Amino acid sequence: MVSYVYIIQYVVFTILMPGYELIGEEERHEIMDVLDNGGVLFRHGFNSLRSNRFKVRDFEIAFAEYMSCNYALAVTSGTAALRVALAALGVGPGDEVITQSFTFVATVEAIIESGATPVCADIDMTLNLDPIALEGLITPQTKAVIAVHMLGGAANINEIKRICEKHSLFLIEDTAWGCGGRINNKHLGTFGDIGTFSFDYAKTMTTGEGGMLTFSDESIYKRAYAWHDHGHENNPQFARWEDTRTSSGFNYRMMELQGAIGLAQLKKLTNVIEKQRQNKEMLWNSLKDLPGIERRHMPLDAYDTADALIIVFKTHELAKDCRTKLAHVEITTKILPEAISWHFAGEWNHMHQLKSRHGGDLLNAFSRSRDILSRCLSLPISIHLEKETAGLISKTIRGCFACENG
Ligand SMILES: *Cc1c(COP(=O)(O)O)cnc(C)c1O
Repeated sequence: MVSYVYIIQYVVFTILMPGYELIGEEERHEIMDVLDNGGVLFRHGFNSLRSNRFKVRDFEIAFAEYMSCNYALAVTSGTAALRVALAALGVGPGDEVITQSFTFVATVEAIIESGATPVCADIDMTLNLDPIALEGLITPQTKAVIAVHMLGGAANINEIKRICEKHSLFLIEDTAWGCGGRINNKHLGTFGDIGTFSFDYAKTMTTGEGGMLTFSDESIYKRAYAWHDHGHENNPQFARWEDTRTSSGFNYRMMELQGAIGLAQLKKLTNVIEKQRQNKEMLWNSLKDLPGIERRHMPLDAYDTADALIIVFKTHELAKDCRTKLAHVEITTKILPEAISWHFAGEWNHMHQLKSRHGGDLLNAFSRSRDILSRCLSLPISIHLEKETAGLISKTIRGCFACENG
């Protein structure tokens, strides 16, 4: 069995990540625009006070335009976006929802919160949902699939979508970590019924906390809209306090300061991703000649957000050795391998719903995923990645190969 315990005796310096690397004048300007014009922080109403400033609404419109989709709905987090998506699709007790074994805990938490049963499938070399493993797990109870685009790289979403259509399943794309990624120029998050996004502080664009949903279908959008706001239908014929409703819901409303920051961050996204892609290529070019290493796979015509460079080694020992030696020179890795316990379902014995669905044995439930992930090393890509840092990373990893051969 592979051990995931890494004892880090060194102070690890965190390489900056985008989003928060670029909080500046543009964000300040948007926030002051709210505060200097009535200071209304709620997304609805107070029309006489707010001088026509509606930042959350504008953010939704700009996001839908950027994504080339029909509707976008802002919420309080990426986790909330997943929960709202499941509610809008009518997923609940008695249903099963299939997602992938490599994702953040939030994906499975949202399924548990909906009352449905979580099911996890193995990943393939994209490090995302393996379509073949997915199809093998479908039962008469399966109602929806959540494909995740982990660490900026696309899942085989066209193939996954074909399987969902064949079995009449809803498809949600957890695009928390893939905002701005595309396949053949179509944005990740717009392939399925609903796309969900996160703007937490570690994501490619950030509002501190925050999330978004994208839709093509109006009726699904309307259900999500109502559910995220206590069932409010925002009926134009009534004041908010007399508003109509047909179902109960919850409160996951985004507030105006988040919307303001989101507007500024969204304008930077294209350049952020382009810069990350350049830096990722620079780093890969300094490593690719090493024997027996490969990059995580991408679907044909995929444009990834280059959030991280994920290298797959031949053995777990080599990946682990590189991780340790990088930590010695104060270079950190991102998720793989050090934060695996928060991102791999094989470690989630605290989720009894997941555990019992997989026969009480999570340790051996996803052995193929465990094998792939144990051989991965994920190097964070920042906008300000310096040539010297890339050189140090390359030199250190090369040193591990020298040890192995000598
Ligand atoms: C970050 C993340 C989430 C949760 O988003 P929050 O905004 O932090 O709630 C969900 N899924 C994935 C894959 C994530 O990376």
